[in-house]
Amino acid sequence: MEDCLFCKIIAGEIPSTKVYEDDTVYVFKDINPITPIHYLLIPKQHICCAAKITPENSAVVGHIYEVAAKIAEKEGITDGYRIVTNCGENAGQTVFHLHFHMLAGVKMGWGAD
Ligand code: 5GP
Ligand code: ZN
Repeated sequence: MEDCLFCKIIAGEIPSTKVYEDDTVYVFKDINPITPIHYLLIPKQHICCAAKITPENSAVVGHIYEVAAKIAEKEGITDGYRIVTNCGENAGQTVFHLHFHMLAGVKMGWGAD
């Protein structure tokens, strides 16, 4: 996909700190982490956002959750992690290539906490 930042990262045209890669998924460190551990898990296929998940492309979403569990086990993240995807402008999505934030390493609040 032309002019997609994350497609360029997958292609190696823009450098990133790789955490994990397989045939369908790429994981790298967020450039501006909001928690001590902040990874981005992305499908290699360009999907703009969660609103465009279909029966044809949805398998990668389950796989991304499996990959997150594998990473947590490998890195000894035993006290929990959060996976979140921002979909659309009101949710704060800034890069329009589907991505899941994996946040860990600190106790996180929720809502009015
Ligand atoms: P969003 O706001 O779309 O949910 O998340 C986009 C994320 O991508 C942000 O957390 C931002 O820090 C991260 N990001 C933006 N540009 C780059 C980049 O060039 N490299 C890396 N590693 N992360 C980026
Ligand atoms: Zn893309």
